[in-house]
Amino acid sequence: MMTAQTGTLFIVATPIGNLKDMTDRAQDILKGADLIACEDSRHTGMLLKHFDIRTKMISFHDHSHAGKTDRILSELLAGKHVALVSDAGTPLISDPGFPLVRDAIQRGIRVEGIPGPCAAINALVLSGFACEPFSFFGFLPPKDKKRRDWLNELVDEKRTLVFYESPYRLLKTLQDIADIFGDRRMIVAREMTKKFEEVIRGSAKSALNHFEGKKILGEIVIVIEGVLRKVRHE
Ligand code: SAM
Repeated sequence: MMTAQTGTLFIVATPIGNLKDMTDRAQDILKGADLIACEDSRHTGMLLKHFDIRTKMISFHDHSHAGKTDRILSELLAGKHVALVSDAGTPLISDPGFPLVRDAIQRGIRVEGIPGPCAAINALVLSGFACEPFSFFGFLPPKDKKRRDWLNELVDEKRTLVFYESPYRLLKTLQDIADIFGDRRMIVAREMTKKFEEVIRGSAKSALNHFEGKKILGEIVIVIEGVLRKVRHE
């Protein structure tokens, strides 16, 4: 059971591109923590430098040695406060942290979320499609057959569908969506909160027309409208 001496594991969201999206509370928690568990200490180091935060970092991935998770858990059990961050956005959302949070809860350690940016939620709310219910799938499978199998399984889904995608696979994925979903409404949200932010609205085919022949850079979220959604809302 949790004791009075147990520290807190803070799950701290950080910007997805625009440093002004760093909340005051995230800064306070990172300043006050005994330890920051991060994916890449060079990346997080730059964020900390910008906000003049000098807390010690420890690198952490889901695939890091189990000893790393144990070390963080024992720091927490010893009363230390640990802040978990990822390279960008909300930890655990297509980012490391799930086993650590699960194990901390199992051991009775207090866990607190410090909310902030998340690319999936930002793309969902600017899609113009129903936000409830929605399903988030993280990254689509990189292998062609598996990706098409996934998409085929989802073609009758009533929920709004949210995916992360790499710029290198975008054209292939859009072609798959065009083949499987036809002219279903969708958006491609690229570089959100950054200088070259763009949201392409229409069908997969119109998105293909937009991107074909261009060098596709940056970070991308795809949102597809669920089937019957239009009917329900008209
Ligand atoms: N934990 C992060 C979050 O809360 O959004 C996501 C981490 S995941 C490793 C990175 C992926 O999120 C990118 O490949 C892209 O699909 C999406 N993403 C992150 N930042 C983005 C942005 N500014 N614009 C569009 N997509 C973004």
